Amino acid sequence: MSTDKNEATLVIIKPDGIKKSLTGNIISRLSETKLQIIAAKMTTISRERAEEHYSHLTEKPFFEELVKYMMGAYHTRRVMAMVYYGPNAISKIRTICGATNPEEAEPTTIRGSYGRITTRGVFENVIHASESAKDAEKEIKLWFGPDEIAEVKLYPSKETTVKTKVHIWA
Ligand code: UDP
Ligand code: MG
Repeated sequence: MSTDKNEATLVIIKPDGIKKSLTGNIISRLSETKLQIIAAKMTTISRERAEEHYSHLTEKPFFEELVKYMMGAYHTRRVMAMVYYGPNAISKIRTICGATNPEEAEPTTIRGSYGRITTRGVFENVIHASESAKDAEKEIKLWFGPDEIAEVKLYPSKETTVKTKVHIWA
């Protein structure tokens, strides 16, 4: 019996990764997995989304600094969000990212190569990757709508008509 299961996982190139011009490098490293990118966008993070994304860490002493870091207070407000998809995507991506603490991460991993610990007590580790299928579902739904995901139908969705203000080219 094959243990390979198609999974989706959320990757975010964090503001320090963008600021350090690591976008191409990180995507090249992740391409070693041979997984598919099924969604990608440059975006900014609101406080609400940063707090929801890291809602499991609200009690931690570094939470406020982490939220500020993710909102771009120290680098740039831009982040790149992507969904990778394929067999064992979650563990394959996490392995290349390396340990949460960049000092403990293998030097050959993305976090080991480019991360640092700040004097403010935050691990600036350049990349986020989902830890479990449950986290991935919560995170992908927080960052992407069903129409932003190419080809693969990840989770149940429904059609609705919305009347909303958007910008168009003037
Ligand atoms: N983090 C930190 N100090 C810690 C633990 C975590 O600054 O002691 C930050 C770090 O940027 C990490 C993020 O909080 O990536 C989320 O923490 P988590 O435990 O979910 O680690 P991850 O899943 O990112 O490896
Ligand atoms: Mg995590």
